[in-house]
Amino acid sequence: MIGFVHSLFSLVLAIVFNLNPAVAVVASLLPDVDIILPIQHREIFHSVLFMVLVSLLFRFRFGKKHASAFAVGFSSHLFLDIFSKTGVKLFWPVDYSFSLPLMSSNTANLSVLVICLVFLLNMQTKSFIFRED
Ligand SMILES: [Zn+2]
Repeated sequence: MIGFVHSLFSLVLAIVFNLNPAVAVVASLLPDVDIILPIQHREIFHSVLFMVLVSLLFRFRFGKKHASAFAVGFSSHLFLDIFSKTGVKLFWPVDYSFSLPLMSSNTANLSVLVICLVFLLNMQTKSFIFRED
């Protein structure tokens, strides 16, 4: 998945769960930092262990609400990456990749993008129709 799709998907989830959208979006981009680091892509930075540890740090530093936004944004990234061909080592250091390549990467990106845009447009339309003056 591309960063924009990860961001948009986490934004939608933040809206649905009434969480801080900025924290969720930044958290959704964090796992792919491993691309610029001298470590294997989609291993520790794409693991549940890493997500729990950083979420706990957020919990103690910024509070429960931001930790929830972080966990939702981060886990949304892991969820979407599972649909890639290479998959994600969710339970790193266990050497097993979870992968569900139902479609090509481009099709997956486009599908998630369209679903998110439909959700946001629908939300905008509802707030326009049912707005309180
Ligand atoms: Zn990733």
